[in-house]
Amino acid sequence: MSDTVQEQFVPGTLGADSMRLLNLVRVVLVEPTHPGNIGSAARAMKTMGLCRLTVVTDRPVVTPESEALSGGAFDVVQKITVVSSLDEALRDVSFVAGTSARIRALDRPLYQPREGLSRVFSHTGNGEEAALVFGRESSGLTNDELSKCDIHINIDANPEYSSLNLAMSVQVLTYEMRQLLLRRRQGVQGKSGFAEEPLKPEHRQWESFYAFLEDSLRQSGFIKPDVNGTIMEQLRHIMGKADLTNHELQILYGVMASLRRH
Ligand code: SAH
Repeated sequence: MSDTVQEQFVPGTLGADSMRLLNLVRVVLVEPTHPGNIGSAARAMKTMGLCRLTVVTDRPVVTPESEALSGGAFDVVQKITVVSSLDEALRDVSFVAGTSARIRALDRPLYQPREGLSRVFSHTGNGEEAALVFGRESSGLTNDELSKCDIHINIDANPEYSSLNLAMSVQVLTYEMRQLLLRRRQGVQGKSGFAEEPLKPEHRQWESFYAFLEDSLRQSGFIKPDVNGTIMEQLRHIMGKADLTNHELQILYGVMASLRRH
């Protein structure tokens, strides 16, 4: 075996810079049914160097099953942030990647893990918080939840049976993250690492923008008093495609505020 080949099989150690990028990523599980999956997801994360797990649930997350399946990653389970909604889980997050087993008629760019995660790192590279969101075992993420994500990631699996176990999909994505960082250190991606992207609005900035937009459209009569949902979903769809920067969102805000004043 040549030196180069051997080098690639040496277990990878990440440098401080890569650890910083991983620490800016939180894994979010939305309403998992089986506590065992929470433990397995924690184990999957820790083996790849991630430790920030958020669970949207009203059930206990520390249970005998989650403890048993977490193995040596029970510390990650014990430090889980439990929240009651996806919005709460995404507070202060500026880039959200949602995962889906099905390639639906999605309204966000769809990526394979490597490309999608590269985009996640281009944001954490700016010091921004990012989230990887996983859905329920039975039904995945709802359309409303998917519409809160900036991109969607699909693991290219057998088209006849593409639904991985929840914790296994966490494993695939966190493994790919580590691979991206290791390869970056080895220079495979070139000196610059991940492309820098301009600062993007945080989740809560988007939510306050949509609240302001909806309120303005109701006041102007564009949205009828007894109607809710559809138009706003379509507007989110349109805005999602535009992939706006912080600065651009502020311009739109200003435009709306000025129209409201007149
Ligand atoms: N029946 C559900 C499958 C849910 S599997 C559905 O059709 O959506 C539970 C979660 O694991 C999914 O919500 C997603 O977060 C993740 N997952 C499973 N398979 C995946 C795949 N092929 N690509 C991306 N994520 C996947």
